[in-house]
Amino acid sequence: MLVNLKEILQLAEESKFAVGAFNTPNLECIQAVLHAAERLKVPVILSHAELHEEVAPLAEIGPVMMLAARKAKVPVCVHLDHCETLAYMQQALDIGFTGVMYDGSTLPYAENLANTKKAVAMAKSYNCGVEAELGALASREGGAGNAGGPVYTDPDEAVTFCAETGIDALAPSFGTAHGIYKSKPVLDLDRVKVIAEKTGLPLVMHGGSGVSPEDYRTGITNGLRKINYYSYMSKAGTQAVKALLEAQDVTFFHDLALAAQNAMEADTEKAMRVFAGL
Ligand SMILES: [Zn+2]
Repeated sequence: MLVNLKEILQLAEESKFAVGAFNTPNLECIQAVLHAAERLKVPVILSHAELHEEVAPLAEIGPVMMLAARKAKVPVCVHLDHCETLAYMQQALDIGFTGVMYDGSTLPYAENLANTKKAVAMAKSYNCGVEAELGALASREGGAGNAGGPVYTDPDEAVTFCAETGIDALAPSFGTAHGIYKSKPVLDLDRVKVIAEKTGLPLVMHGGSGVSPEDYRTGITNGLRKINYYSYMSKAGTQAVKALLEAQDVTFFHDLALAAQNAMEADTEKAMRVFAGL
């Protein structure tokens, strides 16, 4: 069942859990995530990231994600992750996406504010929810480093930003990074609590794979309602393919794809259990 970002985060708020948001740049990912969510009966977010455009163009994978969401037995939001241009966001809105993240975090504050306002105005007429980012993570999506290092989100600036833009969810910076962690991340989860209380909005954790179950739980208690998780899920798929190739002489690619799908399903199920407190 298709729902929008605001609705799915409301479900999370009511039951004090976090919804997992998983990038799904191919059919194996879509099926892995939806099978796991349906088995656990939890709401879920299917995301498309602009950096996966080469793997799966939005115009091709977007309609597939929409169809799968409509057929699902659990509430599903179809979401655009880290969109940096409003033209690309318009493409997602036209396909029917029910959530978008406008990411102006690399821009000066005033420009981020102005563009986020535009994004909210555009999304409104499509009944689509908007997430925005303030502050900057230690690394960009895809693992490239941020030249200046992380910029932690200032709680008071967050209050002004949320009030002026009218966004539905905020992604603050509090110590997570995208990609695979090289050392254990040190998270400022008190900052999450303060920002959640001051803004009254659901908060989003980016770089959510590779965080310890304890940190997830504290973060959720403190106000995280959406957790973006992909790198470790994808890695689980790759490892399953490697293991199968070492064990057998595989001819057909679809056998590798299925092995990857099953491993990603098991990995996302584990993550969803933690996010939902199951
Ligand atoms: Zn992200």
